[in-house]
Amino acid sequence: MEKVKEIAAGKAKSMFTTNNPNELIMEFRDDASAFDGKKRASLAGKGAVNNQFNAFIMDYLGDNGVDHHLINLMDNTHSLVHSLDMFPIECVIRNRATGSICRRLGTEDGLILEKPLFEFFLKDDDLGDPLINRNHIVSFGWAKDDELDEMISTSHKVNELLTKLFADSGMILVDFKLEFGVSSGKILLGDEFTPDGCRLWDDQTLEKLDKDRFRQDLGDVIESYHMVAHRLGMQIKVD
Ligand code: ADP
Ligand code: UDP
Repeated sequence: MEKVKEIAAGKAKSMFTTNNPNELIMEFRDDASAFDGKKRASLAGKGAVNNQFNAFIMDYLGDNGVDHHLINLMDNTHSLVHSLDMFPIECVIRNRATGSICRRLGTEDGLILEKPLFEFFLKDDDLGDPLINRNHIVSFGWAKDDELDEMISTSHKVNELLTKLFADSGMILVDFKLEFGVSSGKILLGDEFTPDGCRLWDDQTLEKLDKDRFRQDLGDVIESYHMVAHRLGMQIKVD
């Protein structure tokens, strides 16, 4: 399968059409961004580790009954995916309070929540990805009620599966973001699951192992992504 035309260049990935109208090539670049694109850098090797990390997690989720867009890994930095009509919303699950929810509600950083918290955000960098509820989504026609029910229940299922997967390797899944889209009338998990879009802490030291290392200038960002991959048993190819 070959790239035909670049149809989207996001902050970290580029999407290309192929000669099959239902399939896209997703390229993971080395670009890193935070704070809705206000902080940017190029981190050598990020594309390769994230592409392979994502494929490992999507395969694991697929094996456990979560329908997703990944068809196959093509090479170190490219994956073939089903083309989705994306919902313009981000689905976030939190097991502990950190990041934007602490700024919003003034809660203690790291507080363990009584039950996983699900939140919707509008995917719009110019507006700073505002928090929205399902009434906004339905009223503005961004998705329908039954579609939201499915995205919420799949997000909780992903949380159960991945909380255990990471816990078995000594890591706490603090929070994460998912995006969904539709292909042939079916809702599929799209985009990516990598340390760019989740928070992972070491379960002994609470050391941050995810993109907060970039956001907070903690250093060793890619080394940390590799360590997480290694702990999960992945063999990441770098050349
Ligand atoms: P951002 O849009 O946040 O800058 P990326 O750099 O990750 O993000 O760009 C990837 C873009 O591709 C995102 O807009 C995402 O919603 C979209 N996308 C992810 N998976 C698919 C898919 N299977 N089909 C179509 N678009 C997708
Ligand atoms: N997240 C993401 N993309 C976004 C916003 C958030 O991947 O555009 C992820 C983020 O990495 C974290 C979770 O969603 O794992 C919750 O992020 P939060 O709302 O705390 O926002 P932040 O602190 O990143 O501004």
